[in-house]
Amino acid sequence: MTGPDALPARRRQVADRTKGFLPDAEADALRAAAADARPGLWLEIGTYCAKSTVHLGHVAETVGAHLVSLDHHHGSEENQPGWEWHDPTLLDPRTGRLETLPHARHTLHEAGLEGSVSLLVASTQQVAPWWSSPLEFLFLDGNHTEEVAQHDYATFARHLTAGALLAVHDVFPDPRDGGRPPWHVVQRALGSGAFEQVSVTDSLRILRRTDERWADGAAR
Ligand code: MG
Repeated sequence: MTGPDALPARRRQVADRTKGFLPDAEADALRAAAADARPGLWLEIGTYCAKSTVHLGHVAETVGAHLVSLDHHHGSEENQPGWEWHDPTLLDPRTGRLETLPHARHTLHEAGLEGSVSLLVASTQQVAPWWSSPLEFLFLDGNHTEEVAQHDYATFARHLTAGALLAVHDVFPDPRDGGRPPWHVVQRALGSGAFEQVSVTDSLRILRRTDERWADGAAR
């Protein structure tokens, strides 16, 4: 690989040692999709420790886009103590809460991406009411409950321009493979008539917005 989706060895080492849930094949597909997106503003929902942010941020820097990565940094349900994806090393001893922001900042510093990526520390419910910037790339990988997954899609995908790309992670058509909300989001997007599917790589779906008109809820 020599295109904008080719990740330099130093950044790959940083991404590989960063905690997160993004297998190599999906990371490669995410960068390849992003390399096809127009520059401008890109938004990632669900930073965690910034593993996928390194992959996306590298492509953003290469093509001249700016990446905003949004997370409240207290983890999703499945990351909390007693749940399947809990990592006790991410607990803040002062609060007893999961606290991934220092890890994400460290990751971006090590990757040399602090100039190309802005971390936005808030819940999507806090940001959605005031967000108004058009988006060229949106990566939905935040909270996977039905309510929040649907909220994040409905409130941010409307800001995608015609031709912009929507990536959705953890899409499992078969409930035996994982939770259903991201799959429901993909079905909703395709069913709205405003998106077409570009690619499928394991649990990563890439869609393209084909229609500027937003039929799925209020106009932007
Ligand atoms: Mg994910």
